Formats: sequence, structure tokens, C-alpha cells
Amino acid sequence: MDKSDKTSDTFDLVVIGAGSGGLAAAKRAAAHGARVAVVEGSRVGGTCVIRGCVPKKLMIYAAQLGQLRQLASHYGWRDTLGDLDFEQLVSRRNQAVLGLEKMHEQRLVEANVTLLRGWAAVVGRGKVAVGERLLHSDKILLATGARPGGLSVDVTPKVISSDQFWDLKSVPRHVLVYGGGYIATELASILSGLGAKVSLAVRSRLLRSFDRSVGEHLTKCLSSNGIGIHEGVGAEQLPSLIGKLSPSCDLVLVATGRYPNTDRLRLSEVGVELTDTGAVRVDEHHCTAATGIYAVGDITGREMLTPVAIKAGRTWADRVFGGAASAPPMSYDNVPSAVFSLPPAASVGLSEEKARQRYGEAIEVNFSRFGPMLYSFLPREQRPQTMMKLVTRQSDGRVLGCHMVGDDAPEIIQGFAAAITAGVTREDLSRTIAIHPSAAEEFVLM
Ligand code: NDP
Repeated sequence: MDKSDKTSDTFDLVVIGAGSGGLAAAKRAAAHGARVAVVEGSRVGGTCVIRGCVPKKLMIYAAQLGQLRQLASHYGWRDTLGDLDFEQLVSRRNQAVLGLEKMHEQRLVEANVTLLRGWAAVVGRGKVAVGERLLHSDKILLATGARPGGLSVDVTPKVISSDQFWDLKSVPRHVLVYGGGYIATELASILSGLGAKVSLAVRSRLLRSFDRSVGEHLTKCLSSNGIGIHEGVGAEQLPSLIGKLSPSCDLVLVATGRYPNTDRLRLSEVGVELTDTGAVRVDEHHCTAATGIYAVGDITGREMLTPVAIKAGRTWADRVFGGAASAPPMSYDNVPSAVFSLPPAASVGLSEEKARQRYGEAIEVNFSRFGPMLYSFLPREQRPQTMMKLVTRQSDGRVLGCHMVGDDAPEIIQGFAAAITAGVTREDLSRTIAIHPSAAEEFVLM
């Protein structure tokens, strides 16, 4: 493209950020016939592909295989495997991520979307600067995601963020993970499964945003797996905790939330408003306070989940470029999510606490805890327990929430998310024939 040719730098849409939300919106808008550019300063794929969901899931598989290898010996398999080749694992993981990055680049080409490399700033209404280059577009979509926060106190061992986790060259000997959300729980499980001694310190309690029984059950599971859990540890108490864990603790990994990437965008100059937490404020149609500027995904601070960003990007593009202007806004109700820990946890709908806040005592709670068959050959005290919970509204039997900690929880809860979205009742579940023997059947037999 010729820099001096102004028309060649004019688009119907400029998307800033080639992560899940930005890519989805760009390709959908292009499919509706829009001339689209995506600007990316780092790698195509964003958090999910490059430093989130994808490499995390591969690392969880590696950790899980370590556990299964031990379990296999109880089934009569002679353990012929040696130690973990961490270098090989990292190399394969990085190759897989690179492959997906290239695939997303290729898909942009196929979708006829122009990819521009560099850091973008919004420099006026309909104007985006990328280095020396000025792009013109009536519509600008902000989709730059979020990044990890830091630690407010100084501590002695090396401190890394969840982004720096991907640069580890070896499995640390003893790591203190600080945080009790998705990332801390997942990375603690990975590190422990790969052979590190792991201590997990949490300001309040594990997975506070989930149904209380999810966090409580998972705390027991992680403890049984050898992770030392310290609850009620504020940042100012960390140095003293580290003192107690020393001298073995050689690394601190901080995962206490992620913060929207707005710094480089120069948003205040164009009238885009931010929330108290620094997220871009949007209305139900993802419009910001500035005309012609929109935002989707983690930068909006709502439900920082890949499928939510993708749905938001596509819904927005359909509305703005696909003639779906009167379509209802995207619903943020009943968003399912999973924590890929060992064992995993997954939830959809209302927690018992939230259901009680909304409906008082007019709810019913069914709870089940059982030992999955896979662990039958382990000594009884070592058998992990699966936990399931259904929260139902008494007036009409409608299922409000479905929560699980145990093997396959994300796979099982995905199906129940569809059922809850469709308005399933306890009566519908009772009429459903079970698949036996399975863990999932418990939800229709409770
Ligand atoms: P989360 O919001 O899940 O959890 C934040 C944790 O950090 C909480 O335990 C919170 O404690 C604690 N915390 C927050 N501020 C402080 C502080 N100042 N000092 C001490 N502790 C603090 O954040 P994550 O970083 O784990 O993940 C960010 C987002 O990324 C998630 O919200 C999620 O949407 C997304 N994500 C999703 C994944 C998935 O779908 N599997 C995987 C990874 C990330 P408290 O409870 O006391 O507030």
C-alpha cells in the first residue's frame, strides 16, 4: 500500500487488537462487505491463543498425564516413563501456538481483512495513527484486551506475572502463587502437576466469585494434591508468609486480576470514557461515549472470557454492518465458565448465594458428592471426590444454576448451559434418561 495514497488508508472499519474479539468482529464485518483493517502491535491471536486458553490447556494436559501415569500403575500398568522433559513440552507448546497464530493470519487474508503491524492510537474522530501512518475510518473498534496487574509490596524471591509464566525455562522448585481466581488456580495446578512444590496464597478465599461450595471443594482437592493453601493473606502479609516458606521458595507468581489495555490508545483525547476500574465504558450495543468508537472483549472489563468476546464482536458486526440494527443486544446471562485446574471446576447460572439474594428461601438446592469410578483402585483416603450442585427455583422448578468440581466438569457443564439457556426445569431433568456409568448422570438423578 502506498503511504501517500490517502484513499488506500481509508476503511469502513479499523479494529485495534487482533485477539479473539477483534478477529471475530473484523472477519464478520468483512463478510458483510466492509473494508476492514486490523491493527496489532504484538502477535495475532491475542491472550487466548498466545498466552492464555490454548497454551494453558496444553500445559494442563501435560500435568494431567503425570497424574494419570501414577494412576495407571494401580491398574496394573508398569510405569516405564521417566521424568518430564520440560524443554520438549515447552517447545511443542510454542510450536502449537505458532501454528495457530499463522492460521489466524491466514484466515484474515482469506476474509479479505488487511492486517497492519504496529501500536495504534486514536488521534481524532475517525482517525487512527499507526506509527507514521494515518488510517481513516468512520468506525473504530477497540479490542486490545487486558494485561496482568503487579504486586503492591516488595518481596525477595523473583516475582513474575502470569504472562511471564510462559517464559519459564524449567519447573521451579517451590513457587508461591498469589491470587485465588481463574489464573492462580489453573497455574498452581499446572506447576504442581509438573513437579513443583506449590503454595497458593489467597486474599480472601479460593474462587470467591463462584458458588461457595465450588471454592470449598476445590480447596480440599488442591490440598490433597499437595498444594499448600493459605487463605486470608493480604498483600502486606506476603513478606511474612514468604519468610515462613523460605529458603525453599524461589519464585512468586502473581495472578490477582487483569486490567484493560488502554494506555497507548489516547482515549481521553477523543472522549471515550473509562469506568472506575479503567475499563472502557460501553452501552449494551458496545458503543463508547465517543461517536464512531466501539469496544468489545476484555477492554470493556465484562466477563473476560474468549467466547464472550467472540460473541460480542460478531453481534456488534452484524448490527453495524449486517443490517441487524434492531436485533436485541447480546445477553450476558447464564455465561458458563470453567477453571481448568486439576480437577477442573465449571459453573453456569446463579450460585446458591445469588439465588437466595434474588428469591429468598424460595429455592431448592440439590448437592451430591461421590467418588468417580476411575479412582476405584486407589486407597479410599486418596480417592478424589466429585461435587455437583443444582440450584432450582421452587415456583416453577426452573434450574437457575449448575455447579461442578471434578473430572470433565467443563465438558459436562457446557451441555447443561444449553439446557439452562433453553429454560430447563427439574422435571425435565427427572424425565431425562441417564447415561450409565458416568459422572454426568448424577445431574439427572439428583
Ligand atoms: P480473577 O478475577 O479470576 O481473580 C482475581 C483474584 O485476585 C481473586 O482471588 C482476588 O481476590 C485476587 N485479588 C484481586 N486484587 C487483589 C489484590 N489487590 N491483592 C490481593 N489479591 C487480589 O482474576 P485472574 O487474574 O485470575 O483472571 C483474570 C480474568 O481472566 C478472569 O476474571 C477471567 O475472566 C479470565 N480468565 C478466564 C479463564 C478461564 O475461562 N478458564 C482462565 C484465565 C483467566 P478476592 O477474591 O479476595 O477479590
